[in-house]
Amino acid sequence: MREKKENLHTKRHIMLLLVIFCLVTLAVGIITYNFAAAELKKQLVNKCHALAATIAAVIAEDSDAYAEFLNDMTADSAYYNRIHNLMIKIRQKNDEHITYIYTQRYRDDNTFAFVFDGEPTDSPLYTPPGVQEQMTSVDLLAFREKRTVLGSDFIKTGWGDLLAALVPIFHTDTGEFLGLAGADTNREQYNSIMNIFIFQTAISIAGAFIVLALCMKWLSDNVHRFIKKERDFANLLLSANKKLEELSTKDELTTLNNRRSFSEYMNIVWKQNHRLNLPVTVLMIDVDCFKKYNDSLGHLEGDKALIAVAQCIKNHVKRETDFVARFGGEEFICLLPFIKSNDALDFANTLVANVEKINIPHPSSETSQYITISAGMATIVPDDNNSQTQLLHEADRALYEAKKSGRNRVVVN
Ligand code: GH3
Ligand code: MG
Ligand code: MG
Repeated sequence: MREKKENLHTKRHIMLLLVIFCLVTLAVGIITYNFAAAELKKQLVNKCHALAATIAAVIAEDSDAYAEFLNDMTADSAYYNRIHNLMIKIRQKNDEHITYIYTQRYRDDNTFAFVFDGEPTDSPLYTPPGVQEQMTSVDLLAFREKRTVLGSDFIKTGWGDLLAALVPIFHTDTGEFLGLAGADTNREQYNSIMNIFIFQTAISIAGAFIVLALCMKWLSDNVHRFIKKERDFANLLLSANKKLEELSTKDELTTLNNRRSFSEYMNIVWKQNHRLNLPVTVLMIDVDCFKKYNDSLGHLEGDKALIAVAQCIKNHVKRETDFVARFGGEEFICLLPFIKSNDALDFANTLVANVEKINIPHPSSETSQYITISAGMATIVPDDNNSQTQLLHEADRALYEAKKSGRNRVVVN
């Protein structure tokens, strides 16, 4: 029962720890996700910027030709074909993270026109030169201030959600602003990288979770084992103590009370009957001719006979307050605290008769063919002029008389 309760307790603790772990993991996960998302956007837009800057530099190398091309923007010119092919190559080489590359020129605060892009002419995404588009906030900023602009978040456009970097193109000689070079990445590319990150993180967390759960189980098993060991040890000590206590109050051979516990009980009874002015009766019992029994049948048989006699005396005592003990050797003692003298004598005579009736053969007894006992009885009402020793002495003297007058009998002092 106690073990079950402890098990339940430990299980609750483990559950609580796991819940805390889940909450902490969730919080750390959210923070990490946001941090990773911001970091990924920064990296992607930096790549876009590097590419846009390259395109701007390539265009600026032949600034005159580009400036001239801006005047008519005819797609069938040799210049257009050369630069367009170059843009297609650059775009293909940066396929992994870049979705669109292009150059654009300023129209007004609302519109711009595409000049070059990196799509082949047969691609559905190809935009011929001169096609106009509405400006986004990023375009507008780059156009107005003629400086590099890096998008910090996705912008909704007709080509999807884009993250853009725009770099101005200046004429190398005149410094004239010729428009912008741009490179974009889109949300799908960002998502695919993010999904890999989430997947890897989820696997790591699940792994950590499993390791933690296993560790906790191992820990709780060990704690249980330790507690059980301690409890077993405590139980062992308890039973050893109980045994020791029994040994100090019981006679080992007959399992009757020993002389020490008789004395303790006698002290209590004596004081109590002294107060109540009631008699205390003692019956001193001795097995007859027991030396001869041992001599003829051996000590082991003697032990068995002593056990049988002890059991018979024990069975004979019916009242709760009566007390039987082995007094020593083949001697026993009964303490009868409240019994009347007539009843006490009946008790003693029946006991003597009952022992003979167990019918333990005694080949060398002088009194019977069976083992018998003699008993000396004495009764005293405790007062200030008598003592326990006196009572025992008188019972002993009566026993002596019983022996002297033929054994297998009771003598009352
Ligand atoms: P009596 O009738 O006068 O009492 O004669 P007895 O032989 O019984 O008395 P005695 O005192 O001469 O001898 C007692 C014997 O009891 C001697 C001893 O070996 C035996 N005895 C005492 N304790 C034990 C015991 O624990 N086991 C056995 N087997 N014998 C015991
Ligand atoms: Mg004796
Ligand atoms: Mg004897």
